[in-house]
Amino acid sequence: MALSFSCSASFAPQLQLQLQLQAQLKINNKKCLQKVKDLITTIGIPSIATSPHQSLQRGNWVKLICGASFEDAVDIRNLSLVYTLAGVDCIDCAADASVVSAVNEGIEAARDIVSLRRPWVMVSVNDDEDLHFRKAEFDPNDCPLDCSRPCEIVCPADAISLEATTGVLKGGVITERCYGCGRCLPVCPLCLDHGFVEGLLEEERKDKGKDGEESNYFLGAITYIRDVSSTAELLRRDDVNAVEIHTSGRQTAHFKELWTGLEDSVGCVKLIAVSLPHIGDSTISSMNMMYSIMKPNLRCFNLWQLDGRPMSGDIGQGATREAIAFAVRLAAAEDRPQGFLQLAGGTNAHTVDGLKREGLFQVATIPSDETVLANSSTSLHALVGGVAYGGYARKIVGRVLSSMQSQHGVAVIEDHPRHLLMALTEALALVGTVKCYDKNLYASLSL
Ligand code: SF4
Ligand code: SF4
Repeated sequence: MALSFSCSASFAPQLQLQLQLQAQLKINNKKCLQKVKDLITTIGIPSIATSPHQSLQRGNWVKLICGASFEDAVDIRNLSLVYTLAGVDCIDCAADASVVSAVNEGIEAARDIVSLRRPWVMVSVNDDEDLHFRKAEFDPNDCPLDCSRPCEIVCPADAISLEATTGVLKGGVITERCYGCGRCLPVCPLCLDHGFVEGLLEEERKDKGKDGEESNYFLGAITYIRDVSSTAELLRRDDVNAVEIHTSGRQTAHFKELWTGLEDSVGCVKLIAVSLPHIGDSTISSMNMMYSIMKPNLRCFNLWQLDGRPMSGDIGQGATREAIAFAVRLAAAEDRPQGFLQLAGGTNAHTVDGLKREGLFQVATIPSDETVLANSSTSLHALVGGVAYGGYARKIVGRVLSSMQSQHGVAVIEDHPRHLLMALTEALALVGTVKCYDKNLYASLSL
């Protein structure tokens, strides 16, 4: 009896405290979720968010790039939820059925919080080897135990995890998180000394080798090409609205092969995007050739994604320069083919300022494209349709997702409204640069 009394006496206050904390947490969560709803309503996103194609016409289109090779379903779901609430027009993801489902789940979870229009869901594919479609690979058994593991430190996606146990390194690349940025390759001290070259892009081998000779790599990358028939199947889904074809622009034969392979599935989407780098004087002629391949069965809007400096927006302010320079060249080219222009590759919080300096931000022009005119409520549309954000968008929200995961484990973000509010504030600050939200409404928000 004495024992039982003593236990109750010591546990009761603890239990009471725990219950009080849980109750307080519930109240705080409720308050935070209400703040999320109030914030979106105060900014006016439900009423000012135009349909995605109107955003392209007005020059305030924003696309979130989840990453053509990024396949972490939990992060993708949470990113899609946060950026849907922030008002993006499109979410671009890997052409993989489970990734597409994760994006759609995030969108619907956001719409359960506040009633918003759906952003378009876009899948990204490639017509040939491409930096965006590769995965780093190495065997940790071959790593020296005393390596300071710079690969792990430099990876922006937390896609390398290594642990020293019983005289060997365990772990390696977390395949679904690796999006192929390649930053781990040059920092590996053994990169030039050992291993295999398989899967590395030719350009990269030459960059690394002396005088253009091939070098051997310890840490390498495996490239892949998305399967055309699986992509066609995805495009026929009701919850996929757009496709993006990544191409080097140098080999239109590959582009034609992919386009032909997609068959009538391209008729199921609302937007066809082509992502390409600037390839000097042949850029416009290559774009015109691709447009002539697409034109006979192009029944929707088309867009050119100007890929400045791929997968680099999170590196620093200057990373956006190449995308802006690309836009300046294209905007001045009168012989460019029909289609909206949109920046990507190095885009970040400084991109809109750069566009403004060049006089390209939301500047109206008259389209000559009949498809656009037939579907427009206005005969004017912006010279630059908008901006896509990838690495930078994922970095600013990813910090919040990592902090949530370290506190609560793998979780859906709406279950942790304080984190949702923090993530949303970050996303609004970025999306708001294009959408022109009143930043006073969220910049001073107390969390
Ligand atoms: S640094 Fe880039 S390429 Fe290397 S593992 Fe990380 S995401 Fe993949
Ligand atoms: S930097 Fe290279 S050697 Fe060092 S842990 Fe990473 S892959 Fe292994």
